[in-house]
Amino acid sequence: MCRDHRRVATWVARNAALNAADTTSVSNGNTVIGLDQSTIESYAKVVLGESKRLPGLGDATCSICLAEYNVEEIVRCIPECRHCFHADCIDEWLKVRGTCPVCRNSPSASS
Ligand SMILES: [Zn+2]
Ligand SMILES: [Zn+2]
Repeated sequence: MCRDHRRVATWVARNAALNAADTTSVSNGNTVIGLDQSTIESYAKVVLGESKRLPGLGDATCSICLAEYNVEEIVRCIPECRHCFHADCIDEWLKVRGTCPVCRNSPSASS
């Protein structure tokens, strides 16, 4: 009688530990990938002028949407590698990937 009770208690404790391990691994999986909004917002954002000159590195086209930059479009640069993209494009990209689409540099890992 006494022994049976003890066996059940051990089983319950082991199950609780397994459940705790499961929830920890799931939440870790969700946090490692993209950058958070405040990190992305801290990157310099520039409105292109008549010269369409980028504030950093990059071609006349955005490497994410492959469209040419136009006057008065908003571009954002990744400070670590100075690559530039449309702000809308790089915001969405960094939220999901967390790395520069051109050089694969990871802004979050270098600091
Ligand atoms: Zn774009
Ligand atoms: Zn880059």
